[in-house]
Amino acid sequence: MMAESRVKFIFVTGGVCSSLGKGISVASLGMLLEGHGYRISIIKMDPYLNIDPGTMSPFQHGEVYVTEDGAETDLDLGYYERFTSSKLSRKNSVSTGQIYNTVIQRERRGDYLGRTVQVIPHITNEIKKRIFDVAADDNLDFVLVEIGGTVGDIESIPFLESIRQIRHELGRRRVMNVHLTLVPTIAVAGEQKTKPTQHSVKELMQLGIIPDVLLARVQKPMESEMKAKIALFCNVSERNVISAEDIAGSIYEIPYMFQRNGFDVITLEHFNLNPGQINPGKWDTFIERLRNPLARVRIAVVGKYITLNDAYRSVYDALVHGAVANNAELDIVKIDSEDIESCDDNSVLSVFDGVNGILVPGGFGNRGIEGKIAAVSHARKNNIPFFGICLGMQCAVIEFARNVCGLAGANSTEFDPSTPYPVISLLEEQEVVAEKGGTMRLGAYHCEFTRGSRIASIYGRESVMERHRHRFEFTTKYRQVFENNGMLIGGVYPRNNLVETVEIPGHEWFVATQYHPEFKSKPVSPHPLFRDFIRAALERCGQGCNPCE
Ligand code: GLN
Repeated sequence: MMAESRVKFIFVTGGVCSSLGKGISVASLGMLLEGHGYRISIIKMDPYLNIDPGTMSPFQHGEVYVTEDGAETDLDLGYYERFTSSKLSRKNSVSTGQIYNTVIQRERRGDYLGRTVQVIPHITNEIKKRIFDVAADDNLDFVLVEIGGTVGDIESIPFLESIRQIRHELGRRRVMNVHLTLVPTIAVAGEQKTKPTQHSVKELMQLGIIPDVLLARVQKPMESEMKAKIALFCNVSERNVISAEDIAGSIYEIPYMFQRNGFDVITLEHFNLNPGQINPGKWDTFIERLRNPLARVRIAVVGKYITLNDAYRSVYDALVHGAVANNAELDIVKIDSEDIESCDDNSVLSVFDGVNGILVPGGFGNRGIEGKIAAVSHARKNNIPFFGICLGMQCAVIEFARNVCGLAGANSTEFDPSTPYPVISLLEEQEVVAEKGGTMRLGAYHCEFTRGSRIASIYGRESVMERHRHRFEFTTKYRQVFENNGMLIGGVYPRNNLVETVEIPGHEWFVATQYHPEFKSKPVSPHPLFRDFIRAALERCGQGCNPCE
């Protein structure tokens, strides 16, 4: 199946329980390998039956991350792109739903020539094919594969069987198995316990997978005695039992922790590669600034999923990148838009007390909309830096229509299909779409900026490619009304002049985009819009008023 390629595979499984940080661990290892000069790609395999997370609620799944080619994927792909320079596409996000869909369509076409179609080999072959397709790129040295879920789940068994087969076919020198487990500390006794790890590894071995490296999630680094015990019971060399200890600082410090504990060197030695020196590049500069902020900036994020940390993951991360680029520490004030829906102006004022900038992120559905519009209004009237993203831009347009253009009752047809002024509406091509999955405007589109606009000067370019995930659009026939009333259309999609960005000249900083710039921000290359939004927020209060103690 695998031709001449010499790509090496690192399979990462998880044991004991979820939320141990598998995605960030894989991203960190990827980053370290790149630091050693290797080229990598990363695949996430999700054992659920949905084709992709695009149809799932953020409460089920957290943020839906969008790739350049328009795949709606797991938020772990966001970590992979932020931590590494690998270019990810829809090929890097695989689900059980996709695998079965492909195999069943093939069966219906008669491609299996009368044979019985089975999990082994047909499903497992399709899983292996997806992995090898990514590895077919000659420029790659490593493909890292994160298997979602926890070993012991019924639904991940075909994925585990597939990686077992790949190890069997390619051998130890081309494949490394990493298993992330939990070594809990019993609080009263203060003792680290290895039994859950022993059970988890036993489960993995029953499926024919012997881990080469055990990453043990622990509160404090493990003593060698503890490592020796795990090694003895789990068939792993003591050296390859690595502490993945809790760290006090930011997630961006995790690669350093892994490096300290030898994860990169152990990995390279497994493949008989000389570890040599690592070159962390710009990451060091980022961490240096992150650790030594000179000011503090307080940004309010107004959304309806603010109780869930992962729902706006990329937005929060992009804000951190922007803050660090300005040598500032970020303080995010999470505001539930429903809470301010029925507030009068004074109560809204108190909610935003001490806030230097307001961001309204993307979202779907009616709930909390009027609260987001109230937040926009507050920012516009009080000259507070405002950044609207996707739904955030649509709210900014609705607010401006109602309160500046005098279009009372203006709305998006998503929220009020019979509004007298549908300033946000569906394009004809979207009106006929009935299926929900993968049918939005997705992925990177070209945006051309208006000369002299703030947004053009922030990017320092005439055009840009940015990623989208929405169904509704600015209704073009209202464009003139908005311009006459002082809103500038900063960028359009040139093919049909779709409005992509709006801004209010003369306001301290009021920029909103139909696209999602947060997906392209990285610690080592903060997104210009986030960087400039934070700069404006800091400037408004004057660097002096928010010093870091
Ligand atoms: N619900 C809006 C739309 O579909 C905005 C989507 C978003 O913010 N991602 O157009």
